[in-house]
Amino acid sequence: MAHSLEYSISHSKKLVLLQHRVERNNEGHLIFRTYAQRDYLMVKCPPHRIALTRLLFSSHSLAIERLQWAERRRQPIHHHLRLCQFCHQGVENEVHAVLTCTAHEPIVIARAHFLSQLPLLGTAIPPHPPPGHSDLDFFRALLGWPAVLPWLAQLVHTVLSEYDQYPLYIPQ
Ligand SMILES: [Zn+2]
Repeated sequence: MAHSLEYSISHSKKLVLLQHRVERNNEGHLIFRTYAQRDYLMVKCPPHRIALTRLLFSSHSLAIERLQWAERRRQPIHHHLRLCQFCHQGVENEVHAVLTCTAHEPIVIARAHFLSQLPLLGTAIPPHPPPGHSDLDFFRALLGWPAVLPWLAQLVHTVLSEYDQYPLYIPQ
């Protein structure tokens, strides 16, 4: 069961945030598991927990998901054209919205607040991607720290709420 679940996650095109993850216990020691209660389910604030879970399982309304389907008078839009509604530059996916995009001030402020908390949560938590690592690597690393998850879930809740308030960008 655990093996087939691990296989399904590692070969999914959608569950990228759950792939290549390492998790840590509260002392920072690496642990490896798939079929266990995930720490993100322990986030106490329900709206924050729901937002993080939606993000991890691609059950959100960012363009990367929404624009893959045809709607009335609109064909599905190719992956690389599902651009961010705020910057029109990067693909509007989970990592871009939460960690990368700098075009929408409320998100920039919420992200800066989140990053400022990291040094207070544990000395080994990197406050930014190490050299040679991508924002996706950084996101996966953050997911491995139980102490980070409530703060990350709060940030994700803010980010998804902001994106939900504005229309998707549809390239002409
Ligand atoms: Zn953007």
